[in-house]
Amino acid sequence: MFTNEEISKFQHIPTPFYYYDLALLKKTLDIVIKESVQFNFKVHYALKANANTEMLKIISAYGIGADCVSGNEIIKAIECGFVKHDIVFAGVGKSDKEINTGIDQGIFCFNCESMAELEIINEQAAVKNKIVDIALRINPNINAKTHHYITTGLEENKFGINVWELEDVLMLLKSLKNINLIGLHFHIGSQITDMSVFKGLCIRINEIQQWFSEHKILVQHINVGGGLGVNYEQPDNNLLADFETYFRIFNDFLELFPGQKVHFELGRSIIAQSGTLISRVLYIKKGITTNFAIIDAGMTDLIRPALYHAFHKVENITTDSSEVRRYDVVGPICESSDCFAKALNLPITKRGDLIAIRTTGAYGETMASQYNLKDLAKAVYSL
Ligand code: PLP
Repeated sequence: MFTNEEISKFQHIPTPFYYYDLALLKKTLDIVIKESVQFNFKVHYALKANANTEMLKIISAYGIGADCVSGNEIIKAIECGFVKHDIVFAGVGKSDKEINTGIDQGIFCFNCESMAELEIINEQAAVKNKIVDIALRINPNINAKTHHYITTGLEENKFGINVWELEDVLMLLKSLKNINLIGLHFHIGSQITDMSVFKGLCIRINEIQQWFSEHKILVQHINVGGGLGVNYEQPDNNLLADFETYFRIFNDFLELFPGQKVHFELGRSIIAQSGTLISRVLYIKKGITTNFAIIDAGMTDLIRPALYHAFHKVENITTDSSEVRRYDVVGPICESSDCFAKALNLPITKRGDLIAIRTTGAYGETMASQYNLKDLAKAVYSL
């Protein structure tokens, strides 16, 4: 995966650090644009996946919109070149301050997740004597067949408005004079690799749209969220997600009314494979059934394995051994869950070797913390 030149450059950089392959990011964006533009789809990038300034500047230059889940993400998106009127704002718990940020910045749309939120946005807009565009985030009650922590479209989840509440929502909307319904929004989960799930989403959206049309409501756009998964097991053979199939499914199965535009909010599939967490082996320690390779990156740098039992490919990129041993690759943080791989066969590994934790461009740097007062890993970019 890495050239000898890159690896010798890594030797001189303090670890751990995130290494971003900008050429791969650009190649991914080229394909996203090519595959979406042919259907006149509008793509937004979900900042929550990675809000690194350099990466955001590259992404915004492609003219795609931003999907934000906090007031600070809205500000950051604008600072990094995203067009204000291309920003959507989701989240179950938007604070009054964040709502005001969205209103003041003149964003494209608030994706609203409850009746209580509709009332507060209306109230805040009225204070400013403005009319604010909103979409209803509807919970389609669809199983995304992914990890339960990143499944968001079931009735038991906290996200979105349930279908059985829609009559009440329409009644409420009639009385709220400072908000304007322009869209329907759906997001059913993340790291979805079974493409039939997206077909199921389209069919469900068609049914929901039918219900709205029976109630004489026609919205301008349908936002189908994000969720397209990436290949964590074999990144080298699958650096690009299958955007072609993904967008085609929505083109083939979503039934639109005249003039309606489809919006997407992709995070992981745009950025995951461009990032690698590079770390150095501090110690090798013998356990009862395994050896521990203790590295200098921890769950503070990459929390996905500890939080979701997520798999990331772990490689020793500087070993000179052809003999293999079994290791638990663990971090330095004072938690047993601070573990990146269990019983992993690696070439004989020693202090000072560099370890690459792959496919960490999404939900890596952006979820980092300073627990144990650890330093934050810096970002390094390919030339
Ligand atoms: N949109 C919403 C509302 C989300 O909550 C998320 C992620 O959780 C995304 C988009 C991006 O999802 P992904 O990174 O899986 O594409």
